[in-house]
Amino acid sequence: MEQKQEVDFIIVGQGLAGTLLSYFLMLENQRVVVLDYPHAGRTTSIAAGLINPVTGRRIAKSWRFEALAAFAKQTYQRLEEQLNIPLWLEWSIVRALHNNFEVNEWLRRSAFPEFSNYLQDGPDPQNFDERLRQPFGWGELRGCAQVALPALVEKWRVRLQQQNTYFIEDFDYDQLTTVGEKVVYKAWSARKIVFCEGARAVANPFFKDLPFLPTKGELMLVKIPGPAFGKIVKHNIFLIPLGGDLYWAGATSRYEYEGASPSAYGKQWLTDELGKSLKVPFEVVSHEAGIRPTVSDVRPFLGVHHDHPSVGIFNGLGTKGALLAPFFAKQLTDFLLGNGKLDEEVDIVRFERKELKGHFFTKQD
Ligand SMILES: Cc1cc2nc3c(=O)[nH]c(=O)nc-3n(C[C@H](O)[C@H](O)[C@H](O)COP(=O)(O)OP(=O)(O)OC[C@H]3O[C@@H](n4cnc5c(N)ncnc54)[C@H](O)[C@@H]3O)c2cc1C
Repeated sequence: MEQKQEVDFIIVGQGLAGTLLSYFLMLENQRVVVLDYPHAGRTTSIAAGLINPVTGRRIAKSWRFEALAAFAKQTYQRLEEQLNIPLWLEWSIVRALHNNFEVNEWLRRSAFPEFSNYLQDGPDPQNFDERLRQPFGWGELRGCAQVALPALVEKWRVRLQQQNTYFIEDFDYDQLTTVGEKVVYKAWSARKIVFCEGARAVANPFFKDLPFLPTKGELMLVKIPGPAFGKIVKHNIFLIPLGGDLYWAGATSRYEYEGASPSAYGKQWLTDELGKSLKVPFEVVSHEAGIRPTVSDVRPFLGVHHDHPSVGIFNGLGTKGALLAPFFAKQLTDFLLGNGKLDEEVDIVRFERKELKGHFFTKQD
């Protein structure tokens, strides 16, 4: 019988989830192998990486923002040192308020103590930037950050390759077997396997019945003539300065879509929204798309399969991977090593407890 390479963990997928889970497991001296295939629709390599204390028209506070953001900052700054690249950038976001409702919500929320660190009077509405169309009003969001997610996964991949622990592999579920308490896949034998497949997990036979609700997101890189904006702008869409006259402009968000490729619909929508935000012409440099691993209750999916405790999942990072992934990658690491529990809100057993009990896992023989 072929000799297998013994490792502690096989991780499938090296987006943000697989990157941070492998990072924390390796910090605990675990032997890890990462199997990843660059499928269309993967998102970390195109994400803006924003961390934003409040979101949406109702200016709602992000779930557990302070604790998650503090841990995220610490993690990305450690990775900056280790990988020798800039990853963590603190920004303000200048946000257009489009109507009376939004201005009133802004003023109402600003009065609450838990918002006072984040919501500031906006820049002078007359002259924030003459290239932008004047909305009803402006507000300024403090305490935001941008994480260079594409650079993080790329550099981490190189690090894994140097250690001979990264393999390009489109995972074939039929070749996964369990031998005693171990899992065996092709050349590897491991204590556990953890799937970090982003939106493609909808096809994973172990976890496909979890309530995934993927959304397609499209963006464009555009050139806007003139000096770079000194802040991120959220007008009709986000305009994120990337250096020089280049900007990340996006994004669409659609539950119904055909395929993972950039679409004519997406391009038109982005062009229209840019036109509503800018007074000046812009040049489209590229157009990209990804499928966000969004889920029905907007909380991450962490845990192990109830019939196969050696098969785990780290998913459901949705629209907030940059904020959520560090804290929950560490929590999952501790859990997998028997050193801690999962929060009830993120543990996938929450679906067994509810109406989906006995229904959502597909049993494997
Ligand atoms: C346009 C857009 C903008 C965004 N902006 C932000 C933002 O500003 N802030 C923020 O926090 N989040 C943002 N997000 C969301 C963010 O991208 C996600 O939360 C996060 O990157 C998800 O990471 P992941 O590792 O779960 O998935 P992915 O990044 O999709 O990684 C999954 C990896 O697994 C691989 N894979 C899948 N199946 C298999 C298999 N069977 N075998 C081998 N490999 C496999 C995939 O190819 C991929 O490499 C944005 C998303 C989009 C689309």
